[in-house]
Amino acid sequence: MRIDLHAHTTASDGTDTPAGLVAAAAGAGLAALAITDHDTTAGWAEAAAALPPGMRLIRGAELSCTSPDGRGGRCDVHLLGYLFDPDADAVVSAYARQRAERRERLRRIAERMAADGFPVDADTLLGSLPPDSTAGRPHLAMALVRAGVASTVDEAFARFLNDRGRYYVPSSRTPVLEAIGMVRAAGGVTVLAHAFAHRRGPTVTGSVIAELASAGLDGLEVDHPDHDDETRAKLRGLAGELGLLTTGASDYHGTNKTVYLGQESTAPEMLDAIADRASGVEVLTG
Ligand code: AMP
Ligand code: FE
Ligand code: FE
Ligand code: ZN
Repeated sequence: MRIDLHAHTTASDGTDTPAGLVAAAAGAGLAALAITDHDTTAGWAEAAAALPPGMRLIRGAELSCTSPDGRGGRCDVHLLGYLFDPDADAVVSAYARQRAERRERLRRIAERMAADGFPVDADTLLGSLPPDSTAGRPHLAMALVRAGVASTVDEAFARFLNDRGRYYVPSSRTPVLEAIGMVRAAGGVTVLAHAFAHRRGPTVTGSVIAELASAGLDGLEVDHPDHDDETRAKLRGLAGELGLLTTGASDYHGTNKTVYLGQESTAPEMLDAIADRASGVEVLTG
């Protein structure tokens, strides 16, 4: 029975609604699924209401963070928080700040492209997003696909939207140590997402992960589509040394990515450990 602990919905940059995600997970035969939209818990209620009998739902989110990279600079990292209290003040305000900032940033990217003659309109793009949802470059990528400028979201990223691209605008992020403290104070469990996904850009060193572990990080996402076998072995070794939990997950984004639900899986005892450590909200069973 597969357990997929990282998936996105229309509450951020996925293409399935929260109810649609849960239905797709049931269709894929998953025993347990985590909903982990970027910087929002807006999809939790709809996903919970759609849970089919027997399936477990782990409510979570993926927080956009910044970290020292261990080489004298900084880089972006994504922190998965599971089963935290979504009403904790620090969580509510960090997520709200992050979402507001992401909308402004997407507006700037869209405006820069529009100024160069691309058929995108920032107001239309931002106006089409659901309330409390998180704006991301994939929304602009989809708009470019709809306008016929690119044929796929991947192509839009490769040509225009990637971190090294001409229209890239960085977004401000929560310091990862602060984020770990905040999620834990809200009763949640923290897992560093796709820590060594070099394809996406610069990543942290093992010594940074060791520091995060001493600051309370609970686990590492080892089995992720962006990690090759060697990377997985390295991360698994590091987790063993540091006493961290390990997870596996698809990072499903619907049709915005080619990965599928259940492509990677977490061991049942790891999910049990996450559930045991959490005190914010319960794992739901349909
Ligand atoms: P943002 O959150 O706006 O910085 O955009 C990052 C999101 O875009 C990630 O969560 C992925 O969903 C997606 N993404 C990043 N790089 C690529 C890429 N090269 N191709 C397709 N999607 C990507
Ligand atoms: Fe995403
Ligand atoms: Fe991520
Ligand atoms: Zn993700």
